[in-house]
Amino acid sequence: VYNFNAGPAALPLDVMLQIQDELLDLQGTGLSILEISHRSKEYENINGETQQLLKELLNIPSDYEVLFLQGGASTQFAMVPMNFLTGGRKASYLHSGTWSGKAIAEARKIGETAIAESSEADHFKKVPNLNRMKIDPETAYIHLTSNETIAGTQYQNFINTGEVPLFADMSSDILSRPIDVSNFALIYAGAQKNLGPSGVTVVIVKRKILERIPASIPDIMNYRIHANKRSLFHTPPVFAVYIVNLMLKWIRNNGGVKAIEQRNYRKANLIYSTIDKSGGFYNGLAHPESRSMMNVTFSIFNEGIEKHFLQEAEQNGFVGVKGHRDAGHLRVSIYNAVTYEQCQALTDFMLDFQKRFG
Ligand code: PLP
Repeated sequence: VYNFNAGPAALPLDVMLQIQDELLDLQGTGLSILEISHRSKEYENINGETQQLLKELLNIPSDYEVLFLQGGASTQFAMVPMNFLTGGRKASYLHSGTWSGKAIAEARKIGETAIAESSEADHFKKVPNLNRMKIDPETAYIHLTSNETIAGTQYQNFINTGEVPLFADMSSDILSRPIDVSNFALIYAGAQKNLGPSGVTVVIVKRKILERIPASIPDIMNYRIHANKRSLFHTPPVFAVYIVNLMLKWIRNNGGVKAIEQRNYRKANLIYSTIDKSGGFYNGLAHPESRSMMNVTFSIFNEGIEKHFLQEAEQNGFVGVKGHRDAGHLRVSIYNAVTYEQCQALTDFMLDFQKRFG
């Protein structure tokens, strides 16, 4: 089976085999990771090591905290404004598609929320133009979604927002490419695409902005409380963090984030060039300058043939090829764990299909 699911998504075989191998006996403890205490030395080590690995791989400056929270990125949509849309200030959001739209809707429940730039008029086929954005120094924060999983668009560059903190939902492209963390005050990502299983959300936050959080925020929703307790404020998602730990080691063993980016670029390029060279049989849905390296969205010139493509893809073991119900058509998600060879199997199938139906 070739797994092109959008999330939860494929994990590397090596990682799965290690989970299987250690499941009944974690590093000679005689206990399973599923039954150890989060207060044990073993889990303390996993927690600390996982934070450290992420810091190394993403080159996170020393004045940042790494947190492992629960509730998915959807909880972050609410937690971000609860903590930072305070003091009578306004938040500013970039609207690039479904996921940023959900973040905006949650922020509006908490406080005044403006849309700085939107690509809605372009049907979200490209990301908003960051260079056109006017930055008001009184803004509480600016929020963007680095990769829109459904539309298949991704920012190729970011801007420096100066004194105004820049926040990003990187759920579907974290660790797929190097980023300058110091440009962001807060980054969050559900793990279930590039980082591991569902159940844990990684938050990278600049320590300085934690001072802004009002004491009235419930503890469980308060970033400062989680940071002060080194992400052990309450029972963490132990199994999920353990798998993130293995995923980070896998990335390190595969040459780190720069090497992963090159691999991802080759994978995405292979599929996009198959689409572009098809003479209109396949059509990319996103504008070329905003194309995502993670989620390739495309259509086939004829709706009936597209339906047939989906059926044949399924029969041939290609899983997760159907587009999201909001966008329709086709989508293949090629996160870090998907190999070049799997992408090649897909493009071979696409070429063969076109020969028969083109
Ligand atoms: N943000 C992005 C970019 C996503 O792709 C998703 C889920 O696919 C979410 C947020 C929501 O994540 P969760 O289901 O973990 O709440």
